[in-house]
Amino acid sequence: MANKIRVATTSLAGCFGCHMSFLDIDERMLQLAEVVEFDRSPITDIEHCTNCDIGLIEGGVCNSENVHVLREFRNNCKILVAVGACAINGGLPAMRNHIPLEECLNEAYLDGIGVENPKIPSDIELPLLLNQVHPIHEIVKIDYYLPGCPPSADVFWKFLTDLIEGREPSLPYELVHYD
Ligand code: SF4
Repeated sequence: MANKIRVATTSLAGCFGCHMSFLDIDERMLQLAEVVEFDRSPITDIEHCTNCDIGLIEGGVCNSENVHVLREFRNNCKILVAVGACAINGGLPAMRNHIPLEECLNEAYLDGIGVENPKIPSDIELPLLLNQVHPIHEIVKIDYYLPGCPPSADVFWKFLTDLIEGREPSLPYELVHYD
């Protein structure tokens, strides 16, 4: 294929479980590789997303770096996709939204069971934590949502093949899960 579809992926405040589920398409990855080339993703060494057809975002937004990466994807991807519960509604990381940030930091780094050398990290290189974890649609416009924690490999396959073959993506009812 002369012009391959360019796809970028990233994980913001996520656990990489959605990426692992994507890899579960197994040997179908070879079919995909015939028509797709990967830009920024865990299988390339590309640091910044460049012009892409599709951007897949796992995870919500918990710090300033997540905001920067998400905006970079929005600026460079024609189609931006929220992949999984964390990207769609904040997911597990957003459980901290009910607790003041200072209390979370104290519990994790000062007062928690088993903490040694209590000290809240403050290196200037660390991205600034946001007070809340946000779903990605609160920061940028999102074109499609793939539900699930994680979405199954078949969801990735159906969604991507629909897009690549020029159809409006449509998931059959049995593939739509929110767990
Ligand atoms: Fe991990 Fe589930 Fe969040 Fe995906 S949606 S990043 S699998 S916790």
